[in-house]
Amino acid sequence: MSTKLAWIDEELKGLHDAGLYNTIRTLSSPQGAWLVVDGKRVLNFCSNNYLGLANHPAVVNAAREAVLKYGVGPAAVRTIAGTMDLHLELEKRLAAFKRVEGAISFQSGFSANLATIPALVGKEDVIFSDELNHASIIDGARLSGAHILRYAHAEPADLERIILEAQGTYRRALIVTDGVFSMDGDVAPLDKIAEVAAAHDILLMVDDAHGEGVLGEGGRGIVDHFHLHGKVDVEVGTLSKAFGVVGGVVAGNRKIVEWLRQRGRPFLFSSAMTVPDVAACLASLDLLETSTALVDRLWENTRYFKSEMQRLGFDTGKSVTPITPVMLGEAPLAQQFSRDLFEAGVFAMAIGFPTVPRGKARIRVMISASHGKEELDKGLEAFARVGKSLGVI
Ligand SMILES: *Cc1c(COP(=O)(O)O)cnc(C)c1O
Repeated sequence: MSTKLAWIDEELKGLHDAGLYNTIRTLSSPQGAWLVVDGKRVLNFCSNNYLGLANHPAVVNAAREAVLKYGVGPAAVRTIAGTMDLHLELEKRLAAFKRVEGAISFQSGFSANLATIPALVGKEDVIFSDELNHASIIDGARLSGAHILRYAHAEPADLERIILEAQGTYRRALIVTDGVFSMDGDVAPLDKIAEVAAAHDILLMVDDAHGEGVLGEGGRGIVDHFHLHGKVDVEVGTLSKAFGVVGGVVAGNRKIVEWLRQRGRPFLFSSAMTVPDVAACLASLDLLETSTALVDRLWENTRYFKSEMQRLGFDTGKSVTPITPVMLGEAPLAQQFSRDLFEAGVFAMAIGFPTVPRGKARIRVMISASHGKEELDKGLEAFARVGKSLGVI
């Protein structure tokens, strides 16, 4: 009998034993404050649908109408026959929304990072990377072949230190950081980082996946939040979180956007965003540009939920955004907490290693504009009950 895959059984057993096996739940409803998960109606506390746009009638309708006009699939990569007028409209509108020179879309935020970093730096170059950057930045950096130097999380002084240390050892350099760190909800000190980048004339890139639709005026993102227009060369983002759809975007300097149209490999070798996705993103943009009501509601809900959780005695870490980590420590406790919450009608997944460091397992609550006060209270009540029964509070 073949034993060539026995290692997978061993690895999976290891994951189960450590409480790190991902049990994937199944949704059979649209996204919203409530979901049907594994057949049970539960309160949704863990999707990235910040503004409730994933099932917004205007967004759904835009996708439907575009499908009737253009069909579904792009049928080609962008550089051959996959660029539709819709893609160009989305890119123009995204650049205007973000108040930058240009924008280019990708199939996802993940592929936007894989496209951008290797297009900007290579083997003779160096990347200065925050030690807690997202996996897609890490993978993009590795793919580039550049020398990767990590600086202490959100520490511009440490960044400057390693820049000085590395001086003269490379051709080009790139500083890259998450805007909002997805597991802790803290925000990169981008104003200080931009000063360091300018002082050393180094390219600066920020991944604003959790900042779009959340930070800045009307959700224009972290660059807008810090008023750094023109000072951040590349802003990578996703259309899969606050935008409620799926896709990626790179916005910023016009030359970089033009270069990515020539050398961003997922742009050249993977088919374009689909028609309904692009049309839906355009509709989400319309909503964002028309009113800040959803963004305002998101922040009101965030402030309320967080302060109530802290009042109950939970440790919500250092988040300053709607991402609300509930710190629990060991992975099995986090998994038990999540299961008990589910029993109590609340869906919030446990997150453990390798998504967060060992011993820092947590439940990550994602607050959205689609929650009403009653729903937040119901969630708080469940957290209080489970927290007491497990001895966390
Ligand atoms: C979610 C996320 C991504 C990936 O975005 P997708 O569009 O889902 O591929 C990239 N970077 C960061 C920081 C993220 O949080």
